[in-house]
Amino acid sequence: MSDLYERLGLNSSASKEEIRRAYKDLAREKHPDRGGNAEEFKAIQEAHEVLTDEERRRMYDMTGSVDGGAGGGGPPGGMAAGGFPFHFMGGAGPFGMPGVAFDVGDVFSHLFGGGGGPGGPRPRGRGGKGPNKQHDIGMTLGDFYRGKEIKLKFNQARRCGTCDGSGADKTEPCGQCGGAGSKTIMRAIGPGIMAQTRVPCDGCGGDGKRVLRACGACHGKKFVEREKMLEIKITQGMKDGQNLVFEGECSDMLEFERPGDVVLTLRRNDMGLGELDEYEWTGDDLTIRKSVTFAESILGFTLHLDKHPGGARKVVWRGGPLIHGAVVQREGGGMPRASGGFGVLHIQIHVAPPPTVPWSPEDAAKLMSVLGGAVATGDDSATTLKLDSCDSRLVVDRE
Ligand SMILES: [Zn+2]
Ligand SMILES: [Zn+2]
Repeated sequence: MSDLYERLGLNSSASKEEIRRAYKDLAREKHPDRGGNAEEFKAIQEAHEVLTDEERRRMYDMTGSVDGGAGGGGPPGGMAAGGFPFHFMGGAGPFGMPGVAFDVGDVFSHLFGGGGGPGGPRPRGRGGKGPNKQHDIGMTLGDFYRGKEIKLKFNQARRCGTCDGSGADKTEPCGQCGGAGSKTIMRAIGPGIMAQTRVPCDGCGGDGKRVLRACGACHGKKFVEREKMLEIKITQGMKDGQNLVFEGECSDMLEFERPGDVVLTLRRNDMGLGELDEYEWTGDDLTIRKSVTFAESILGFTLHLDKHPGGARKVVWRGGPLIHGAVVQREGGGMPRASGGFGVLHIQIHVAPPPTVPWSPEDAAKLMSVLGGAVATGDDSATTLKLDSCDSRLVVDRE
């Protein structure tokens, strides 16, 4: 009896819709009225009937039999020698015999990813794509500003082309499973309920073949390694946290048909937030905090931006008095935009505490003549205030 999935040209992961479609196509082709073989047609009908009935399909997947485990080989001998980590609890009895169980758990499905289903050698891999691999690429703000090219060298394993990933130059059918790649074991599916389950043959690892002569190109390893170089172009406008995807550049894996992607994440690594003279980066804009003296906050100032990612530069403020926490902006002083041009540079001003020496009456009069207003005159009848503390570090929220 051939595998139900194989009869429809499918594998055990096929969806109900795929089963229906495959059946419809095959039935049309193999119908006896159209000269098809009656036995073959019946086999296709049976496969369709069982596999589209959820309960019967589940039973079939578990037991490898259309009638709940009555078919297939008997309980295997010598299982404990197979190196599988299951625990043998009692004698192997006929299906359904109470109190007899192999505690196989889900070990097999974990080891073999669900296996290839009963009958026939295990197909290579689960199909599909292998997992992606992610790496961080450390970058300074200056790297992001200027753009950068990085060459990443690594060893990449590829399925051996000489032996098509079999590792063998010459093989013979496996003596333990007769080339089937799998064998039947008893498995407890409930208290006292046994089911027959097909597991990959441990003699050949599910390939159904024994290697007589190893492949000369990969020395039987099934994979060959080669040095691979990824050339990574980081262009202006790319952002902190951005992913660069290199499709299919992971190593080939036994379990998967196609290799996964190498994903490189750009990460700014020169940050220690909150310090003066360090740039915060948001969108295309930069923000820096700078200290000025009390006098400079009134009269204007020149700031030296020595650590600007685009190179050292000076900015000048002549726009009038600024309070502590004020933010001044310079268009084009930010980061390069992907679309061209630059973002904005925001400079948050920290004003140092004012001088604590009282103004002389002459100084006060001079200042007042500039700023406008009346000079405070002494009045002995009023209580004179005393400075307790001066918290000039009060931060004005720039939002
Ligand atoms: Zn075998
Ligand atoms: Zn090879």
